Amino acid sequence: MTQRLYLADSYLTEFEGTIEAISGEKVVLNQTAFYPTGGGQQHDEGTLQQNGRSFHVYDVRQEKGKVVHYVKNAEELERGPVTGRIDWDRRYGLMRHHTLLHVIGSVIYDLYGGLCTGNKIYPDRARIDFNHIDDPSESEIESIMQETNRRIQQNHPVRYEEVSREEAETQSDYIKTAINLLPPSVKKVRLVVIGSIDTQACGGTHVRQTSEIGTAECVKFVSKGKNNKRFELKTL
Ligand SMILES: [Zn+2]
Repeated sequence: MTQRLYLADSYLTEFEGTIEAISGEKVVLNQTAFYPTGGGQQHDEGTLQQNGRSFHVYDVRQEKGKVVHYVKNAEELERGPVTGRIDWDRRYGLMRHHTLLHVIGSVIYDLYGGLCTGNKIYPDRARIDFNHIDDPSESEIESIMQETNRRIQQNHPVRYEEVSREEAETQSDYIKTAINLLPPSVKKVRLVVIGSIDTQACGGTHVRQTSEIGTAECVKFVSKGKNNKRFELKTL
């Protein structure tokens, strides 16, 4: 298992680690701040530095409990100490759009009882699908975005709690939806708590307070079926 430093500190951009294995372009460290694609959120990019040389990390994936870094010229790296650096602009964009999805999720749940059925998060945009809502009119979309931006501007703090799976399952349907997607082997659940507006099981990276998200805009609404009412969003 790779220790995932981004879970404790999503603002960590540089870290020291040890290369434990190299195979082709795949590099595994004992610990990493690089986020691997998962939970809808795209992977980080950045560099690994060793012996005065810099190697480009262009993809990061989870494979069998390990975080695997895909690195250009990895054959020239060696096992041992290494410094990792995250491309912060990319990561911060991912964090802002990820946290935005929590906020709009709280709005859709409060207004319509709709639950998230899927999402995709990029550095410059994101999309989220909901069930339990009819196709909204333009003015409804406007109201949803107004309420989303109102909650963002309230500047709620974001904090984390670790609870047992059983404890998390006793909470609302809203949280259960995400927990049901976790494999049975997962016994501890990480809850992300955004002020008084949102509590959700999530292993992604978020900003510290909602004002960092900026102003949210709905670029497009698309109905992909009754369980996939899709909002395409970006922040300004
Ligand atoms: Zn999240």
